[in-house]
Amino acid sequence: MLNLDWFQPYDGVIHSTGVIYAAICNLPRDMRFKRENMLVLGLLPGPNEVSLHQINHYLAPIVNELVLLWDGVTFDNTFEKICGHISALSSCYRCEKKANYENHKYNFAGMDNMSEWFINRNSAQFCENALGWRRCNSNAARNRFVKTTGVRWSELLRLPYFDPIQFLSIDPMHCLFLGIAKWIVKRIWVDENILKPETLKEIQKKMNQFQVPADIGRIPGKVECGEGFANFTADQWRIFFNIYATVSLWKHLPGVDKKILTRFVRICSILVGRIVQSNLMDEAHQKLVEIVKIIEQNYGRDMITLNLHLSLHLYECAKDFGPLYAFWCFSFERMNGMLGKMLTSKNILFLLKLILNSIPLFIF
Ligand SMILES: [Zn+2]
Repeated sequence: MLNLDWFQPYDGVIHSTGVIYAAICNLPRDMRFKRENMLVLGLLPGPNEVSLHQINHYLAPIVNELVLLWDGVTFDNTFEKICGHISALSSCYRCEKKANYENHKYNFAGMDNMSEWFINRNSAQFCENALGWRRCNSNAARNRFVKTTGVRWSELLRLPYFDPIQFLSIDPMHCLFLGIAKWIVKRIWVDENILKPETLKEIQKKMNQFQVPADIGRIPGKVECGEGFANFTADQWRIFFNIYATVSLWKHLPGVDKKILTRFVRICSILVGRIVQSNLMDEAHQKLVEIVKIIEQNYGRDMITLNLHLSLHLYECAKDFGPLYAFWCFSFERMNGMLGKMLTSKNILFLLKLILNSIPLFIF
């Protein structure tokens, strides 16, 4: 949303100064007009208000940038990992845990010596290494440096308050629901034939008997489709474990998997709450540790994925950023959906009209 506003900065003399503002409509309505969220795109010095097409001289550089954004901006490969970390698949970016490379893939097994690696990485050391990366003067030198230190430079490190370890939160949506929930059900229970195709039909039948309030969300209806639990979204995994899983899965699971199920359901019910208590967060953390140990002991080291490891950091992220709903990615996913729907000619015209209407000079 753009707006051109004129005001008189001086007393006793007529001198009009203009400002072109932008508000980010992606922000909630109660946030987008806060001072810290408003953008000043241009200043028009005056002393007189510009008229008609003269405004174009001021709009041109702004439009150049908007056009660039509309086309999309590709960052240099260096910034694919925006905070300068190497892929988390080979090394956790919050603690000292390094992935094991076994059977041609990485795993994060090895809970026995947790006290040795469950230690926060050192931010100061990271920043020092990042500066070292900047001093490398060739691609080969930079590659060698990354292999040794696991660190690259990121422009974000120019922010004086930025902590490259603490400020990287784990997204609970990807970690818990698209990561662990999906992994446990599909890769362990379905692939290991604990939940067979005919069992999936029974589970679906049981779920269809549930009568839940309308605002809880759609009942997942694809349990028996495809390879099982087909195309479940993160939200459907959340709903499944919070409402349906215990009743519909209980009689189909052996003892050890019942242990995984009860712990994960409890974890989900604690972590999705709007209010979290530190003692309950502590319980959730302990249960996550137990789940990782149970899976490692019963299904092997290969089954300990990055997400299972990262879930061990959710507790400390919640301490820094608040309840999980306050920093999970569901909100961004909703924006993706909205933006996708806007890409129709009708909506683009609507957006253009909205922008033009917010610039008084364009209303002839
Ligand atoms: Zn870690």
